[in-house]
Amino acid sequence: MSQALADIRARIASAARAGGRSPDEVTLIAVSKTFGADTIEPVIAAGQRVFGENRVQEAQGKWPALQAATPGIALHLIGQLQSNKAREAVALFDAIHSVDRLSLAKALAAETARQNRSPLLFLQVNTGEEPQKGGVAPKEAAGFLAECRSLGLDPQGLMCIPPEDEEPALHFALLAELAHRLGLSKLSMGMSADFETAVKLGATHIRVGSAILGSRV
Ligand SMILES: *Cc1c(COP(=O)(O)O)cnc(C)c1O
Repeated sequence: MSQALADIRARIASAARAGGRSPDEVTLIAVSKTFGADTIEPVIAAGQRVFGENRVQEAQGKWPALQAATPGIALHLIGQLQSNKAREAVALFDAIHSVDRLSLAKALAAETARQNRSPLLFLQVNTGEEPQKGGVAPKEAAGFLAECRSLGLDPQGLMCIPPEDEEPALHFALLAELAHRLGLSKLSMGMSADFETAVKLGATHIRVGSAILGSRV
C-alpha cells in the first residue's frame, strides 16, 4: 500500500515539474468509496490523510471511527449530493466538490450558517454537457457562482468529470480557462487514468481511487 502511494506521489511530482508547477500545489485525494476500513487503514498507516467518498451515508458509516483512531484526516465529498443530505454533508465533510444547482446551494448556505462550518466548495461543471451527469453547463458557471455568493457561500474552485470517450485534456483545459476567467484558484480534476494530464494542466485537487486502493469490482 505504501508502495502504491509512493508511486502515485512520484508521478504527481514529475507531472507537476513537466507543467512548471510545484508538487506542493496538488492535493491527492484517495477515493475510498466502496472500500471498507480494512482496506483504508493501511493507506492511513502509509501517511495518506485526505480521502474522498461519493455517498454521504456510506461515509457516515465508516469514517467517524477511522477519524477517531487517527486525528487530522480530511474528508472530501466528490459525488452528487441531494439537498436533503446537506446537513449531514456539512457536518462530516471538509470539502464538497459537487455543488451544481441552486436548490443545493440554498441548502448548503442554510447549513453552513446553522452549523458555523465552512467546507471548501467546488462548483461542478458539466464540461461535456452530458445529460446524465451533474454540473452546470460552462456558460452557466458565472451566473451560478454569483448566485452562490449572493447566498453567502464562497466557492473556491471548479470540478469536472470528463466524458469517458473524449480526450480529458480538452476538458481539463476548458475547466482551467473557466476558473481563470472567474478568478477561482482551485481545480478538482483528474482520476486514476488521467491525473498526470490534469496536474500538467493545473489541477490543485486530484481524485485517485483504483490506482491506490485497487479495483472496485
Ligand atoms: C470514483 C471517482 C473517482 C476515482 O476514480 P478512479 O478511476 O478509481 O481513480 C474520482 N472522481 C469521482 C467523482 C469519482 O466518483
